[in-house]
Amino acid sequence: MTMKITRTAGVVFLSGVIDENSDFSPLLLEEAPLSLNLAGIQRVNSVGLRSWMRFMVQWGDKPLKYLECPVVISDQIAVIPALRGIKSKSATVISALIPYECYGCQHQEDLMVQESQFTPAPEPKVLNPQCPSCKGEMDLVNPGQLSIFEP
Ligand SMILES: [Zn+2]
Repeated sequence: MTMKITRTAGVVFLSGVIDENSDFSPLLLEEAPLSLNLAGIQRVNSVGLRSWMRFMVQWGDKPLKYLECPVVISDQIAVIPALRGIKSKSATVISALIPYECYGCQHQEDLMVQESQFTPAPEPKVLNPQCPSCKGEMDLVNPGQLSIFEP
């Protein structure tokens, strides 16, 4: 299964796998700002990543929003600045799943974080959410991952 594009009420949904068969070109016909919901993406490979970056070059500096990014997407955005925009940070992460771990009881959970919880200043519950298992504080698995929300 490769990437599928559907659209509902002004939001474009990508689902499946971003790989060598993924065609981002239909997205170039969309009007800015483009809201991309990525909740259905299961996997990204390196060839698919190159297609995505090529799309970013073609899309240019027009505003773009990423919604409900799964961990496979937030991992990529955290390490590849071009996915936030080529010349400027024209792409904004509105919400993304971020992995947390409780060092007290080893419980792991991916939590949906909203941009509004990070800016202007990160909320304590984004930095150290309560562990649902032992009620202690959970920490980010990758401390750099919240940088995807930086303006
Ligand atoms: Zn715990």
